[in-house]
Amino acid sequence: NVSVVLFTSDLRVHDHPPLRAALDEAAETVPLFVRDDRIDAAGFATPNRSAFLADCLTALDEALRDRGGRLVVRSGDVVDEVCAVVDATGAGSVHVAGGVSGYAQGREERLRSALTERDCALHVHDAVVTAVAPGAVTPTGNDHFAVFTPYFRRWAQQGKRKPLAAPRVVRVPDGVGSEAVPSRADVPDVSPGVPAGGEAEARSRLTAWLRSGVAGYADGHDDLPGDRTSRLSPHLHFGALSPVEAVHRASKKDNAGAEAFVRQLCWRDFHHQVLAARPAAARADYRDRRDHWRGEDEAADDIAAWKEGRTGFPVIDAAMRQLAHEGWMHNRGRLLVASFLTKTLYVDWRVGARHFLRHLVDGDIANNQLNWQWVAGTGNDTRPNRVLNPVLQARRHDPDGAYVRHWVPELKGLEGAAAHEPWKLPADERAGYDYPEPLLELSAGLARFQRARDRS
Ligand code: FAD
Repeated sequence: NVSVVLFTSDLRVHDHPPLRAALDEAAETVPLFVRDDRIDAAGFATPNRSAFLADCLTALDEALRDRGGRLVVRSGDVVDEVCAVVDATGAGSVHVAGGVSGYAQGREERLRSALTERDCALHVHDAVVTAVAPGAVTPTGNDHFAVFTPYFRRWAQQGKRKPLAAPRVVRVPDGVGSEAVPSRADVPDVSPGVPAGGEAEARSRLTAWLRSGVAGYADGHDDLPGDRTSRLSPHLHFGALSPVEAVHRASKKDNAGAEAFVRQLCWRDFHHQVLAARPAAARADYRDRRDHWRGEDEAADDIAAWKEGRTGFPVIDAAMRQLAHEGWMHNRGRLLVASFLTKTLYVDWRVGARHFLRHLVDGDIANNQLNWQWVAGTGNDTRPNRVLNPVLQARRHDPDGAYVRHWVPELKGLEGAAAHEPWKLPADERAGYDYPEPLLELSAGLARFQRARDRS
């Protein structure tokens, strides 16, 4: 007998409940990945994520080959491809991780009805893509938590399963057709600083992080130039790393850094449980504030300057250039540029979220859309009118200006915190720096935002 494992956002062999169950159940298993037409059509397969995905698939194929198997890769409609494999092998079951987004939920429904017609069982496994499954903890009277702190309390108390070891042997039936596993070398237009992906890379990064990085995380997570966060987000996004395992291993460390790190991993689950319960929040305001954002045409020049990192606010430009170069941005940078776009320039959060998704390697519907909404004040922030001042924030989180000088080399002649306010230089000195004037007076932007929110 044969079982099928459909890999989606869980590209690993360690701690993989669907794979384990499929192997336990049948003598032979087809590990399947489908390059899904609908994801391509939705513009989600961007160069940076496609490159990282190719690394993950290559690594997964290698890990399966080490165990006597291989990865089967197909392209097309995911349900059609699963059904084709089921028909060709006579498989009696399909195992898949429970998804979160509206798209993933729809895929599950379509799979269920197509497989029922074939008398093939569908097993959906929880706590694969998140550490705690969406819906596993809920407040009284609601299907999800809308506020983080009470969620965190319940999430921390919630029993979590122990991580599973990787299987030793995977037997794949003969004759199942596969395309070549995609290679990063074939993906054009990838940003130069996109890191390497794959399970081995993810695991060694987690080990190194827990050994020598995490202890400084409580103090250092907002240090822009120090870059003292884990950078595990792309590995978690593609599931090359299990969130259950990350939480489990970090929780064994008894220090404030590890505690703070586990709390961030809970933020990831928090946004996933919001999206699972409210899939429309990927596009629509979670809380309708009746904002009348400036139209994209009206704000076109400001939006272009923001995207290209030439707003004249050095820390904003530094962060946007980091995004363009690495396909990643420090969390403090994300907060600052998102606050700047929505509250200082008064542009719709969806414009920023779309740009982020185009470039981020970790670009993720749950984390991206809901963090954008959090900053814009249309989401779960309990202080929706809070505005981050880019100059004060830059002085606090980049006190010596090193982050700015690294990403905005035009300003490298400016010492210390002076790099954050080039407009304060005497005119003749200012003229020596080929760097734009600020797009607007911060106070004017803030006044516009306050007026608009007061009216709403
Ligand atoms: P660390 O600080 O080391 O944190 C560890 C892990 O915790 C991260 O890898 C991530 O999985 C999780 N995490 C940390 N902060 C958050 C958070 N605020 N929300 C959810 N999970 C979190 N994260 C994404 O993974 N994908 C996105 O598309 C994304 N878009 C964002 C957009 C905006 C506007 C903002 C403000 C934040 C966004 N984040 C997103 C959250 C956060 O910025 C990144 O997860 C983090 O910067 C990744 O770097 P790291 O792995 O070094 O994080």
